[in-house]
Amino acid sequence: MSDGFERLLDAIQKSGKNYNIEKITKAYDLARELHEGQFRKSGEPYICHPVSVAEIVVGLGLDTDSVCTALLHDTVEDCSDKVDLPKLKKEFGEQVASMVDGLTKLIRLKFHNKEDEQMENIRKMLLAMTKDVRVIFIKLADRLHNMRTLNGQPEAKRRLIALETMHVYAPLAHRLGMQRIKQELENLAMSYLDPIGYQEVQNDINHKFDQNKDIVNQTKASIEQKVKESGIDCTLEGRVKSVYSVYRKMMRQNKSFDEIYDFYAIRVIVHTELECYTVLGIIHDMFNSMPGRFKDYISIPKPNMYRSLHTTVIGHDGVPFEVQIRTWDMHHIAEYGIAAHWKYKSGDKSDAGLDKKLEWISKLVENESSTADPDEFINALKIDVFQDETFVFTPKGDVVTLPQNANCIDFAYHIHSEVGNRMVGAKVNGKIVPIDRTLVNGEIVEILTSSSTKGPSRNWLNIVQTSEARAKIRQYFKKEKRAENIVEGRNEILAEMRKFPGSFNEEQFQAITAVIANRVGMESADDLFNMIGYGGLSVNKIMNRLRDEYDKVIAPSTETPITEASQIPVAEKKPSGEYGSVIVDGQEGCQVKFARCCNPLPGDNIVGFITKGYGISVHKCDCPNIINCTEQNKDRLVNVEWRKHSSEQKDQQYEALMQILVEDRISMLADISVALADMRVSILQVNTQKRTDRQSLINLSVSCKNLAHFNSIINRLKSIKGVNEVSRGYAK
Ligand code: MN
Repeated sequence: MSDGFERLLDAIQKSGKNYNIEKITKAYDLARELHEGQFRKSGEPYICHPVSVAEIVVGLGLDTDSVCTALLHDTVEDCSDKVDLPKLKKEFGEQVASMVDGLTKLIRLKFHNKEDEQMENIRKMLLAMTKDVRVIFIKLADRLHNMRTLNGQPEAKRRLIALETMHVYAPLAHRLGMQRIKQELENLAMSYLDPIGYQEVQNDINHKFDQNKDIVNQTKASIEQKVKESGIDCTLEGRVKSVYSVYRKMMRQNKSFDEIYDFYAIRVIVHTELECYTVLGIIHDMFNSMPGRFKDYISIPKPNMYRSLHTTVIGHDGVPFEVQIRTWDMHHIAEYGIAAHWKYKSGDKSDAGLDKKLEWISKLVENESSTADPDEFINALKIDVFQDETFVFTPKGDVVTLPQNANCIDFAYHIHSEVGNRMVGAKVNGKIVPIDRTLVNGEIVEILTSSSTKGPSRNWLNIVQTSEARAKIRQYFKKEKRAENIVEGRNEILAEMRKFPGSFNEEQFQAITAVIANRVGMESADDLFNMIGYGGLSVNKIMNRLRDEYDKVIAPSTETPITEASQIPVAEKKPSGEYGSVIVDGQEGCQVKFARCCNPLPGDNIVGFITKGYGISVHKCDCPNIINCTEQNKDRLVNVEWRKHSSEQKDQQYEALMQILVEDRISMLADISVALADMRVSILQVNTQKRTDRQSLINLSVSCKNLAHFNSIINRLKSIKGVNEVSRGYAK
């Protein structure tokens, strides 16, 4: 019976790579000798297994030492009486010996149902992974072959291995970007865990594929033709979603098979990044695209280095399908992840070249004689592969992935809002630590909770690193304590209003606060109280408006009579600074108002416009309304200038408009308002418009002192992550 070694040699030949056949044969001979008389559960000689693993390893494009390691991977574990690591080192060198050692340790880690052990296993595995990434590739190849031949095992063991594959190895392959192996592992595991479900989905997919084959082929051909007409060399692949991913989608989203419409994808592979976007344009010209389904993983790669453009379009038969557009480099990385580097390093170099991220790994591993500083290697791998993630464990052994620099509070909120809200302390690796302690890879984190705690501290908002935790804490203050917040906020406003002259009744109080609430963009007075109560808005920030509104409702006649001008709604919410801050044609004390279209600030070049009945309105010289002023109105323009350095002017506030172009992210608006609050700048009005899939435009009206102050606000806002552009705004 053939043990597959011929097939392995064949695969080596076909790979077109330079393998040391002599060394590989020597490893095979030793492995065969050591496993002599051992059989797999299926009855095959044991040597078939390592040879098959070696064949998968060749398929991944790994080097001679990796192939030798694959052949020898079970020898130290299974034949310890006949061979040991020093012997392997002598025969095959340091690299092979240390990789076999790494694998032997991994093999010994059996995943049982005991959660402690599972945790330990995953942890060791992650750590082992950082020593030599080839060990993980070989381990995945080993697992893949075991999964392919799982039928030989008894039922209970099959299930255990399949579960372990689903929970540990498939995610690991995914993490390393090895899509092919991941999918095969998932499909195999599922076929053991739910054979009937697997078969059903498989049949449905086959059936649907048969039904749509002609249309799909036509669509493919028409895309290929259009792309080639535009002078771009391309390769098209049709791809059916994997059985498991359809199955998972049905389970998770509770859909029937018929509701999974994007089970089919067309992949267009081109040569350059630019061509990717050109092809995208062609596709969108040919078909209607489904809104919200375009994803640009080229500009923003997934954490596992995956890059491609995805879009879902509606085919000519009305059936939506997904199109994936990528270059060959992206394709190789999508299929083989980190391993793509070994597989394709001798490939076509005329393209952009492989992802830079991979280069250093190969440098470290390629350098056979090198004893590269292991710490440096680990750090580099952590930075480059797990660039912005931290892996930690729950006491039960579940791996939790958090952004880099996350701390115990982030962890608690990631587990559950309630865990965060009831958190009183934290333990890392069994020791009590401060709750803001930054977490490090591999640590076991336990959150101490108490049901009698008062809830999170507002200060935590500044400590947490994840937007998830921040959002959950805010939510707590908003919701959990709403009743208390409302009472608290209401009392604060009442206390301030009682300081005003005159008296008021409940009805008047409600009328006033309802108007204020409306002004600051709240739906009701309760919302306003709540916001003040939980500290989202300080009562000082609404003082001016409160006073204005109070004067209007309570004592309209004791103050300045309501002039025509102040009845213009826009004038009502203007901060102070109407009189005395501007000199008109050399005269002080003229009645002026600041134009709402351009909101001039001290420091701006300004010009006056004599209105019919409302005094002089002051504009910026470059205000579109002034520039477009008709010839007959030109003689209504009048010279105005800012009055200099008057002490009473110092605290005057002016309204200014700005437009902020931002990336869409959850806490964007919150970050902006925090920055403004920091600078003690009040927000007078805000509205947000969605611009594109990823960008929004925020129109913001703030109160500020002068142009210099305004510019400093702009600069501060520009420094916020995700803020793309800030400019002075004009009202429409
Ligand atoms: Mn094995």
